[in-house]
Amino acid sequence: MSIQYIKGVGPKRASKLKKLNINTIEDLLYFVPREYEDRTNFKYIAQCKEGEKVSLRVKICGYPTTLKPRKNLSIVKIPVRDETGMAFLVWFNQDYVLKQLSLGDSIVVYGKINRFGNEIQITNPVFEKGKGNRNRIGTIMPIYSLTKGLSNNEMIRIMHNAIKEYSNKLPEVLPDYLRTELNLMPIKEAIKNIHFPMDKNSYLKARRRLVFEELLTLQLGLFLIKNRSNDINRGIQFSPSDEVYRFIDKLPFKLTSAQKRVFKEIEKDMEDNKQMNRLIQGDVGSGKTIVAVLAMFKAYKSGYQSVLMVPTEILAQQHYESISNLFSEYDINCELLIGSLSSKKKEQVLEDLKNGNIHVLIGTHAIIQEHVEFNNLGLAITDEQHRFGVKQRAILNQKGNSPDILVMTATPIPRTLALILYGDLDISIIDEMPPGRKPIETYAVGTSMIERVNKFVKKQLLEGRQAYIVCPLIEESDTLNVKAAEELYMSFKDTIYKDFNVGLLHGKMQSQEKDNIMEQFKNKKIDVLISTTVIEVGVDVPNANIMVIYNAERFGLAQLHQLRGRVGRGKYQSYCILINGSNSRISRERMRILQRSNDGFYISEKDLELRGPGEFFGTKQHGLPDLKIANLFTDIDILKLAQQKAKEILDRDYLLIDEEHFLLRQKIINMFGDRLENLILN
Ligand code: ADP
Ligand code: MG
Repeated sequence: MSIQYIKGVGPKRASKLKKLNINTIEDLLYFVPREYEDRTNFKYIAQCKEGEKVSLRVKICGYPTTLKPRKNLSIVKIPVRDETGMAFLVWFNQDYVLKQLSLGDSIVVYGKINRFGNEIQITNPVFEKGKGNRNRIGTIMPIYSLTKGLSNNEMIRIMHNAIKEYSNKLPEVLPDYLRTELNLMPIKEAIKNIHFPMDKNSYLKARRRLVFEELLTLQLGLFLIKNRSNDINRGIQFSPSDEVYRFIDKLPFKLTSAQKRVFKEIEKDMEDNKQMNRLIQGDVGSGKTIVAVLAMFKAYKSGYQSVLMVPTEILAQQHYESISNLFSEYDINCELLIGSLSSKKKEQVLEDLKNGNIHVLIGTHAIIQEHVEFNNLGLAITDEQHRFGVKQRAILNQKGNSPDILVMTATPIPRTLALILYGDLDISIIDEMPPGRKPIETYAVGTSMIERVNKFVKKQLLEGRQAYIVCPLIEESDTLNVKAAEELYMSFKDTIYKDFNVGLLHGKMQSQEKDNIMEQFKNKKIDVLISTTVIEVGVDVPNANIMVIYNAERFGLAQLHQLRGRVGRGKYQSYCILINGSNSRISRERMRILQRSNDGFYISEKDLELRGPGEFFGTKQHGLPDLKIANLFTDIDILKLAQQKAKEILDRDYLLIDEEHFLLRQKIINMFGDRLENLILN
């Protein structure tokens, strides 16, 4: 039902609420407070301590004084007392209080205590006459995320009305048996207490119920999307083989001990009859690819095909080249499948894949198209997993019959999100860099230094090196990002870098064009590559030793670190120069973190600390719906419970068609939108 039915919400307020993504009464009731202010803490004046926020019951015991120390400043001061002592209520520029209060009034007030010598003051307090009507004082006050033109008090009023009139009509999504079993509040009570909790305990109970409902819905939806592949425990049992160790001995380098350990973990999983479901986390450049290669080798030795899916064509190409090189002495047939292949070549690949002539397939999401069929896919690997959604990975996994699954990422993800994304996922960490890497020297500078930066870059170019210049990230708009890159390119190629070959690379280019540019950069036909963040993942150009990032303040730290990982891949000392266009303390602090550390895990943690989980791990980038109530960092216990219950529910009612699950099913469809409806629930 439209929110305009609620008392106090006309078209104007409705449009403000729309900005907060509140379109229906149900949206409104589920719009939970951002935080709370506990105004239940009643004290006597004599107990008040400097700085604390308290509620007081007092009586006005004298006449107000008004001061006007400056033209734009007026101060009203009113003396009050209770049984224990005396204090002053002080308001700045709020003379209207004079009209509302008079000598002898009993009031309740809430505010912050300031002590000046023996004098106790409460500055700009809120107050209510009489005993207060338990609205603003003596309660736990909800604080909402707001939008311009909508105050917290207005929101509270609207919410009161909505709850009074409509909370009865909210559908009870959770089946009775489940609520009884888990002792969860009914929805009406939960909604009332999440907005206006009677006390801390009822708040906690209300929140628990709502978080459970949200996570259960999410989890059920995901199980349905994944076709519950998490549940299928039986998988391929690959045979033990020593040959992979002979292969390792022939590699051009020695594995780090972290790589060895992680491969051992994979080997154990593969030889087990359970399906492998493993995430490899390792910083940029830690050498994840070779570990994947070893697993593919092992799959081949057991007679199975493997596939490696990567996010970009350039990266696919590069992996294809280096991997077929490593496999060249063996009879392992590697092929590449990307969108830009000629249709003749594509047909050939598809046929060879189907009849088993191809052992290792490397490609982009072209691989998960419907007509791509494997002969006997045994191992499915996804590189840079953060670029793929849940659904894409699920489709890849369905190309085989419970293939072992490996995902690789340079972005550490919190345990809760990992649980949501992968169910019972095992995690391996490559926490060691191959030897001999020179740490990248990172400098953060202000925009006034741009000229000097360019001089420095030119010096490196004259010594035969190459440079990346990354353009500002303009939020959410590919078109604008491209424009920024084009402008920088046009201005640089004829001025500062006119004696060098300058190239341009951005996401809107045809992939063939992109590959072409990248190829030229690799072959040193291009000295300076001006680019958007498309270079973020993976291409190796060891001669490029310098990266300049414009408006670095607009990037996430983890992303800057990932970008920076493009240099420092050769024998030359490498540099990363962050041009910080902001003067804010927090952005300088963020730049400093990158300057000081080369450790991706540490950097991500700090990023998280400074930006908060919402922005850092936007659930959206994983193809997940937004969570309104649950917190991915703290609600891990409820998540586990929801996961277990979701499994039980689907065991009872695989398609959620029983009457007691009908509303739950509806809720899942609402949460996931079309995504789910198209996939299964029909
Ligand atoms: P990432 O983990 O970022 O995907 P890669 O797998 O691309 O890293 O490895 C980065 C580079 O390090 C590659 O050129 C690779 O050949 C090299 N490399 C990987 N492992 C080792 C090692 N143990 N010793 C030396 N070089 C290695
Ligand atoms: Mg990689």
